[in-house]
Amino acid sequence: MITPEMPNLRIVKVAVPCPLHKTFDYRLNTEYSNKAIEAGMRVRVPFGRQKLVGIIIEEIQHSDVPANRLKSVIAVLDETSLLSADILKLLFWAAQYYVHPLGDVLQTALPVYLRSNDDATPPLTDVWRINHKQNSPQEEIQQTLKRAPKQQQVYQLLSESKNGLDAEALNAVTNNWRSPIKALLEKKFIEQDVKPAVIIANKTAIQDFSLTQEQSTAIESIRSHSHEHSVHVLNGVTGSGKTEVYLSLCETVLAANQQVLILVPEIGLTPQLTQRFRERLNTNIVVLHSAMNDRQRYAAWHAASTNHAQLVIGTRSTIFTPLTDLGLVIVDEEHDGSYKQQDGFRYNARDLAILRAKNNNAPIVLGSATPSIESLNNINEQRYIVHYLKQRANKKPMPSIKLVNLCSQKLHEGMAATLLSAIKQHLEQQGQVLLFINRRGFAPLLMCHDCGWTTNCLRCDAHMTFHKGRKQLHCHHCGSQRPAPEQCDECGSTNILAIGAGTERIEQYLQSVFPDTQVSRIERDTTRNKGILEDKLEKAHSGESGILVGTQMLAKGHDFPNLTLVCILDTDQALFSADFRAAEHLAQLITQVSGRAGRAEKAGEVLIQTHHPEHPLLQTLLHKGYPAFANAALKERQAAGLPPIRHLALLRCESVESSSAQSFLDHAIEQAGLVDSKKVDLFGPLPAPMERRAGRFRYQIMLQSDGRKPLHQFLSWWIPQLQQLASARKVRWSVDVDPYDTF
Ligand code: ADP
Ligand code: ZN
Ligand code: ZN
Repeated sequence: MITPEMPNLRIVKVAVPCPLHKTFDYRLNTEYSNKAIEAGMRVRVPFGRQKLVGIIIEEIQHSDVPANRLKSVIAVLDETSLLSADILKLLFWAAQYYVHPLGDVLQTALPVYLRSNDDATPPLTDVWRINHKQNSPQEEIQQTLKRAPKQQQVYQLLSESKNGLDAEALNAVTNNWRSPIKALLEKKFIEQDVKPAVIIANKTAIQDFSLTQEQSTAIESIRSHSHEHSVHVLNGVTGSGKTEVYLSLCETVLAANQQVLILVPEIGLTPQLTQRFRERLNTNIVVLHSAMNDRQRYAAWHAASTNHAQLVIGTRSTIFTPLTDLGLVIVDEEHDGSYKQQDGFRYNARDLAILRAKNNNAPIVLGSATPSIESLNNINEQRYIVHYLKQRANKKPMPSIKLVNLCSQKLHEGMAATLLSAIKQHLEQQGQVLLFINRRGFAPLLMCHDCGWTTNCLRCDAHMTFHKGRKQLHCHHCGSQRPAPEQCDECGSTNILAIGAGTERIEQYLQSVFPDTQVSRIERDTTRNKGILEDKLEKAHSGESGILVGTQMLAKGHDFPNLTLVCILDTDQALFSADFRAAEHLAQLITQVSGRAGRAEKAGEVLIQTHHPEHPLLQTLLHKGYPAFANAALKERQAAGLPPIRHLALLRCESVESSSAQSFLDHAIEQAGLVDSKKVDLFGPLPAPMERRAGRFRYQIMLQSDGRKPLHQFLSWWIPQLQQLASARKVRWSVDVDPYDTF
């Protein structure tokens, strides 16, 4: 309210990082009376007893809080907005859609560096480029440089680079560049500038093959939509050359001086992808991923948001990087679960990417060999346009896939004799073998042979995994560790058996059977230390490691030219999982892992072990392929009323006392009864599939609806109500819209 006593009262609405679904109004003191205020600027504000950094949403003329009770902004931290209008729009939408507090959403979207550093000046680095302002003709320059070959070389390098080169880029090509640079600067043939410390791509490779007919058709077709929003699914089998399609589309967009945003599932595991963009595109590229420190990440973010970088590649949260002129979005491996944030602000980066492209009137390409059932449904409904790459780019046939029936077979550490002889045969023919098992450690549990006692986690409804090398038990659900027992806790017997096999056991056994072959285990446990993963991947690529034993980590993105046999050891667990996406994940995994085999010269073979070779999922997948499987799965979801046909949300709750969690959810159900919510079905409270984890009891309510809209109307009323409940304070609870799994 503008009162006569305070003629120049300025008020700003601020999103403060806190769990409340509201914004807060603050006044600006006289020192800021002439300051230009923009949405997206940071402010330090008092909040309860704390001082927090919030984001200005807008300047307002009137607050419902009486002027004498309005608190003052302590400091306005920025001169201009850090977030572009399109990012703010995306975040407002996401806060509503995921029913998550706006302050926390904005906090998640901003680089961590900006939370602890008032000064938003990014680290800068020197860069050198051709001085186009100088007047000497090219012949004269070349004539002058003839006598200085070193200078000529550096000049040549710079002239091939659109945006100039920094020390890192020059170091990569020559170690003697500092004095030539100095000389060239003195001659004013080149100029020096500073820019944010970003990767500078140095185009070194050219496409030395022609595109396949399928690639060209896909590119043409996507290009014909280049100035309008459209969603394209690039459904290409593994090795079909999807990356070439991306590169080609990028070239067009970059040539039009627009920016490209590329999302990938896990960058650390697939450095080759970044490398290919870096080698082939003559533009500034920044990469954003979790292995970078906060300052580096911020520098990359800043470079993108100020258009110093035109191509941004990164994992999930990269979707929130502000850009000045977005011309294309690419989501590689769009089916991948890592696009869904599983705690806090539970967004799906793939889905937000589609919205962001739409807001910017830009096309988006979702690439995958195994598109998600969601995308498939959207193709069927003609909301997305599909482009197929059915052939491998190098014309190599897809590997043959066979099932190995485990029933009544004698197993060697979980492997059938047929499997072992196939491994032997492939090794003898100088092929490389990959064994895939999604279970780390030596064995999933230890058991007493005398009384049946097993190693259970004290805090979870789960067994503790035996890690033999470390002589430890680990719970893979809560992280608990303890020394492996030498005796049974119950009866004292020393007759302890390791039940089942994980990667460690498979590795040991195969090493004993094939002593002359290097067996390499590639998974989180063995690659934690810096440089080890790179080293192991290097040996895998070169073929030095003849047998690779790995988890999920090895399933995607890698191109091992010598790999001829892929074995999938355990499928039965996923065939009978309670999770509604389990079948989809298994089919994607089998297809992706299989795709690693026979990519180069030698033909590939895939063996899948199962006790259920007749299972319809495996039969459809093997005989009709992933698309047929996916269509069948979609029909099943239809029949069961599951996504993407119906829409889901989960209200999760956990507490140390099981009664607290249950009573909160009972109250939540009661509350829901207060409105007419016929369009939303509520199920529960039900125990979570793993009822106890990390010492807490877990329950949930599932919400289903035919439409997104009624679900949202209901949630946006319900969730703020739940925050008021007294029972809410004794528990941890959260809402998950479009949950990835129901665990
Ligand atoms: P995907 O991403 O679909 O798995 P890639 O783009 O990685 O496939 O391509 C697989 C391999 O085929 C790469 O080594 C790539 O250089 C090569 N390749 C792609 N397109 C062609 C083409 N038109 N002709 C020959 N080789 C190609
Ligand atoms: Zn015992
Ligand atoms: Zn545990």
